[in-house]
Amino acid sequence: MPAQFKNLALDIRDYLLTCLPDFETLRSAVLASRGLHEAYVLRSKSIMHCVVSSEIGPAWPFALVLARMRDEPWEGCTDGLIVNDWIEDSQITGREAFELIRVSKIAKQFEDMFSNREKDRTSKTSVLSDAESYRFQRALYKLWWIREIYAADGEDNLDRPEYMQHCKVELLGADTLTELLELDRVWHFLADIVKWLRLSHGPTEDDDFQQVLMVKPESFLEAYETFDFGIILDDSQDAPNPVLREFLEDRGVEPGCWIDSPDDAVLVDEILGEDDTCDKCNAEEGLNLWGEPNWSWLRGHLPPDRLPAFLPGYLGQNFTTKAELVNLTKDKGFRYEEMIKEMFEGQIDTEEYKTDGWYCWTCLTQFFKKELYSWFVNWKRKEGHVFQPEDCWYGWNCRTQRHKLSHASRLNHFCAPTRGDQHDD
Ligand SMILES: [Zn+2]
Ligand SMILES: [Zn+2]
Repeated sequence: MPAQFKNLALDIRDYLLTCLPDFETLRSAVLASRGLHEAYVLRSKSIMHCVVSSEIGPAWPFALVLARMRDEPWEGCTDGLIVNDWIEDSQITGREAFELIRVSKIAKQFEDMFSNREKDRTSKTSVLSDAESYRFQRALYKLWWIREIYAADGEDNLDRPEYMQHCKVELLGADTLTELLELDRVWHFLADIVKWLRLSHGPTEDDDFQQVLMVKPESFLEAYETFDFGIILDDSQDAPNPVLREFLEDRGVEPGCWIDSPDDAVLVDEILGEDDTCDKCNAEEGLNLWGEPNWSWLRGHLPPDRLPAFLPGYLGQNFTTKAELVNLTKDKGFRYEEMIKEMFEGQIDTEEYKTDGWYCWTCLTQFFKKELYSWFVNWKRKEGHVFQPEDCWYGWNCRTQRHKLSHASRLNHFCAPTRGDQHDD
């Protein structure tokens, strides 16, 4: 069969190649057939553009700029209109294609997160429309360009002011206010993820999140997947401070002003389920409702440090119990979504809260109050923990367990009080 390709007109072979869905298929096709290889050699530039566009989507030129910035000395590419000169008329090499696909996969994961948080909470993968997706990715890549420009630090960068001027005007120089608002909006989204990460470790300060722009996309993703805020700190420490804020303000974009923008279609044209209500109390909470597809986000909203407060009585203040619960839930490999699933499955009364239900913050925290204790006891049993045979009379309401280690460890406090409440000692 493949030998017959040679008999087809060049235009047909060219057309066939441009229809391939991804770079890997193109590579195999070209390697497998001499006829297709010949067509590829003659028309590789346009064929490559088509296939890359099918695989990555319409924002691919912005991804290619990033891939090239990461691969080549950036200085060589600062003249002229970057995207046009550098992309439209250029040959994508195989090596660039691999890097392109790599960065686009990362961008896609960010789009999934964005879509779940800001467009449709019921879907873990992106449901952004083609136009929304293009706008999101264009802004995301542009923000990542900033890192490449600033990270190319050192002696070469002594002429930084001129360099910055260039980057502001030519590179980020979005044509319209809406595009600038989109940059601001995606930047806020990234900053939100960083705040979320920081919160999942404990209380947060209100940082200046300019530095977020200095985190490598893959480090960012790794930090998100492992809940390791240290990765963000390591990447952004001692990094130069990008001037994006000043640039945006010069052009009339104040921090977060897209929120009040008269054009409320900044990035997202329509939020799905905006008027949805809590399945328990009917509060209209839309995107703020909690259900299975967004349980994983809960870690940065109800961080491990706060979980012991959901145990009954003073159990969460029992030093050993508190440390055990916090250490368990803080672990890299621990998944909130699995814990919540087990909490739902372990319910005795399954009428009040349903696994596939959507709940407001208040109802969700009530659920934690109701179920966290049983879940934790089950977890301890599964781990082979042996409870002290003798129960404290005051059970979980015992106040002494908070400060007397010998008492706390000698008696079991994972039980209901049998002698009423304890007087203060
Ligand atoms: Zn509710
Ligand atoms: Zn006690």
